[in-house]
Amino acid sequence: MGKITFLGTGTSQGIPMIGCSCKVCTSSDPKDNRLRTSALVEHNGFRILIDCGPDFRQQMLRENISDLDAVILTHQHKDHTGGLDDIRAFNYFRKEAFPIYAEEIVQESLKMEYYYAFSEYKYPGVPDYILHTIDEKPFTITKKLPDNSTSTLEITPIRVFHYRLPILGFRIGNMAYITDGSRIPEEELAKLKGVELFIINTVRHEKHISHFSLPEALEIIRKVGAPRNFLTHMSHQLGRHEELCAILPEKVKPAYDGLTLEF
Ligand SMILES: [Zn+2]
Ligand SMILES: [Zn+2]
Ligand SMILES: [Zn+2]
Repeated sequence: MGKITFLGTGTSQGIPMIGCSCKVCTSSDPKDNRLRTSALVEHNGFRILIDCGPDFRQQMLRENISDLDAVILTHQHKDHTGGLDDIRAFNYFRKEAFPIYAEEIVQESLKMEYYYAFSEYKYPGVPDYILHTIDEKPFTITKKLPDNSTSTLEITPIRVFHYRLPILGFRIGNMAYITDGSRIPEEELAKLKGVELFIINTVRHEKHISHFSLPEALEIIRKVGAPRNFLTHMSHQLGRHEELCAILPEKVKPAYDGLTLEF
């Protein structure tokens, strides 16, 4: 059995967006407040964070999360990596480097963004990461248990395109999570066969260059055929949570910050 908690479900600027007075940004419904997109997945005794955006600290405090086994990154954009400096808290309590799973291209970006964490002579207290290289092939996360045995978690990445940028979605058990996509190659859809909980990004109703629009996301949901589907990485242009619930097909719902689902 697994569990996913949506830590953030907003697009790169979050909702409310600074300076915006639209009906979504000024809504009093807490479900219309969307931090930057990230999710906590708990499966087989592992706690894995998918993406670590600029709201990471706030998300950990809100959900009372005191430790994680690893961070897996979908891509290098700041709204998915901007919180990695705060991994320091876990370094402090674990007294060891923290594992991050990312593609090589993402790691290159981290080495620039957090150059001080990779320099030869580190300032005391800077974050300490162990980078694990992944690609679109299935990979395993391993951890040592208190009795010295090891436990493993298998993750299947899904190759997705974010405009022209190759990024990753992840399947863990019968749950699949795709954010920031604007295209999924047909052959990758095979990896989503039998998924029972499907999460996909939707930025707005109208077509967008680098994110799925609502009609495009619904078309992929139809192809995947999962019984439960949730939308994430939503912008204020998509409308209020309540309005969205009223127009979406029966098997599709907008996720919201703090929502937990079992799979
Ligand atoms: Zn994003
Ligand atoms: Zn707005
Ligand atoms: Zn992005």
